[in-house]
Amino acid sequence: MKISCRVHLIASGLLGCSLTHDNDCNVYAIDGGNEFALIDSGCGIETERLIENLKLDGTPIDRVTRLLLTHGHLDHSGGARGLHDRLGLEVAASAGTARALEAGDQEAISLGAAKRAGIYPPDVHFAACPVARVLRDGDELMVGDCSIRVLETPGHSSDMISFLLCCDGRQDLFCGDTVFHGGRILLQDVSGCDIPSYSQTLRRLADVPIDGLYPGHLTWSERRGCHHLQKAREFLDRLLLPPNIV
Ligand SMILES: [Zn+2]
Repeated sequence: MKISCRVHLIASGLLGCSLTHDNDCNVYAIDGGNEFALIDSGCGIETERLIENLKLDGTPIDRVTRLLLTHGHLDHSGGARGLHDRLGLEVAASAGTARALEAGDQEAISLGAAKRAGIYPPDVHFAACPVARVLRDGDELMVGDCSIRVLETPGHSSDMISFLLCCDGRQDLFCGDTVFHGGRILLQDVSGCDIPSYSQTLRRLADVPIDGLYPGHLTWSERRGCHHLQKAREFLDRLLLPPNIV
């Protein structure tokens, strides 16, 4: 589903538009002209449906070359192996995500805890996947004629990175589970979730002049994305945490 000039939504679960499996995050495809990149992979249970959605949008599958992961939680990285195998995508991720993904380490992505909490059935598997490129703060990569800058944004998880798409005179932020519509956040009682880092990240992002905000769940904003980032900072300025999305 094309949602803006350069962005397609190809997967989204119960906390979004229910395009694909209930547990999927929002998966975006960035149209760089002669090359496409995916941001996040969904949980991996309905990868074929995600690929069908790409085709329905008329995306030339052979031009989808890269998968950029925001963090390792299963709803964002569980489909990496399937997409790597089916589409031959080069996977890029932060060092922490890469370590967990290459080892298929379910404890490192809190999948064990999520299973014990009943969020995932016990038989869900985190498939190991090779990572071609480890991304760090300030790294820049090109997808066709679009530039993408990497921002380290820990807080929701220690391995979280966001992607700032600079194209057509716009800046669009793909921020995984860092900040959502209305400035809401996602704090969870799992390892790697850290309030001081989260606060620092939200303050940093509030100073980034963005147009579109494309989070990992709920709705996106094509314009005035800054409004949502600044809403989050307003809570912090009153020594409060922004409300959780769930
Ligand atoms: Zn997450």
